[in-house]
This record gives sequence, structure tokens and C-alpha cells, in this order.
Amino acid sequence: MMSDSFSAPHFPQGFLLEDDPSAVRPIFQACPGAGMHKKSISPMNYAILILALGCAPLLPLVATGYFWYSRWKCRKVAVACGLKGREAALRLLAENGINDVPVGPANEMVGDHFDPKDRKIALSADVLDQSSAFALAVAAHEVGHALQQKDGYRWFGWWMAVAPYVHLLTFAFQVIVMALAMFFPPIIFLLVISYSLLFLMSILTLPVEYDASRRALKELDRSGLLTTPEEKSAAKTVLIAAGLTYVAKAIQDLLLAVYYALRTFRR
Ligand SMILES: [Zn+2]
Repeated sequence: MMSDSFSAPHFPQGFLLEDDPSAVRPIFQACPGAGMHKKSISPMNYAILILALGCAPLLPLVATGYFWYSRWKCRKVAVACGLKGREAALRLLAENGINDVPVGPANEMVGDHFDPKDRKIALSADVLDQSSAFALAVAAHEVGHALQQKDGYRWFGWWMAVAPYVHLLTFAFQVIVMALAMFFPPIIFLLVISYSLLFLMSILTLPVEYDASRRALKELDRSGLLTTPEEKSAAKTVLIAAGLTYVAKAIQDLLLAVYYALRTFRR
């Protein structure tokens, strides 16, 4: 999983913040004892709301931009072994006793990934048939996922059990909630649940991705596919940049959950 794209966070029209902080509505407005404990949103919560609005869409954009910059830079770093991504992946798999995982081209919409169900590695064009520190780093990362499955890595098992369903279900859930919110706006609160779920999913993804990159660097070093400091440094840079996109996604989901929670409490 070397995803480098994110679904853009959406802030439905009519749910954006008022520019004027003084326009904040009191909470508990509708409850019977409202007059006894009327409260406004605190400056701290307002700051969090502003932060969520500003950072939620920005963080993944910055992280993805940095990944693409690293990708562009590390594609120029030639490797002494001369192997292309496909050859490197097959060699690392064979050296670890895995001979039943084919390596082929990836759908450009999906990108580089290891399919644990069909047990195959798919690589994009600039990885599959190219020889560079970037190509070998990405190929080794996907081999890292195959090794996780082979070793019964616990986090990978958990991730596999929920990942295929969470994103599809939460997307369908969000579409339904947004449609219903046109008729009954308070239902938007349910988005807190979906973004909290996505945040938990993002948290679950982090150790899986970190471990796959750790295995990749270890394998590239052990096998002698990367030898010079420049090659190793470039591979590490691109894997760190890819990892940061997952961190940014986790923070984005958290900020959106907080955003919709605070929106609800302001009512
Ligand atoms: Zn991955």
C-alpha cells in the first residue's frame, strides 16, 4: 500500500463556520434548563475548529506533495545492482522462500500494492520496469507486506480483516448522511462516527506501513541490492515520505471527527 492520493475532505455548504466568532450560538439551547446553564463555545474549542478547518485538507496535500517531490528526486538515483523493480521484488521474495507471488503491472488508479487475498504484487510503471533507488524501495516495501503475511504479523492480520469493508461502508454511510442532512441538518452529527471510524482505521494502518518499510530497508541492505550511502539514503527518504502521507491521513480524519463534533455541540 503506497497510496499517494486522498479523498478530499468535504465541508458541505451551510455547515461552514461563521467568520465572526461572536456569532457562535450557545450550546444546550434547546434543553429545558437552557437559561440556567447557557454556555458559548470556548475560545479553545473555537481555535480547534479553525485548526480543523485549515489543516484537515492541507496536511494530506502537503504530505502528498512531499512524497511526489521525493519520488521525482529518488527516481534519478541509479542503483549499482542495475535491477528493475520487478526483478528486485522477485529476488527478495525468492530469497525469503516465497515463490508463489507474481509481480505485475498495477492499475494506475490503485497504485503500488500487495494483494493479500490473491497473493500478488502490483507495481506502477515507474517501479516495475525501472531501475532506481525509488523503484527498489517501493518494490521492497510491497515485498515487506508479503513477508508480513508469511510471518503472520499481527497488525497486518487485523488490518486485513477490516480494511476491505471500512472505507466502502463509511463512504456509503457518509453519502446517506449528507443526503438526509439536506432535510434534517442535525443528522450531520453521525459524521462524527464515520470519521472516528476512519481515524481508528488510519491508526491501524500506521504500524502496518511502518513495519513494511522497516522490512524493506532491512531486505535491501541484507540482499546487497542497495550498496552506496546515496542509494540507501534515497530509499529511506522515499519510504519516510510515503509513511508521512498515512500520518497526515490519520490527522485529517481526527480533525474532521473533531470538526463535526464541535459543530454539533454548537447547536
Ligand atoms: Zn504499504
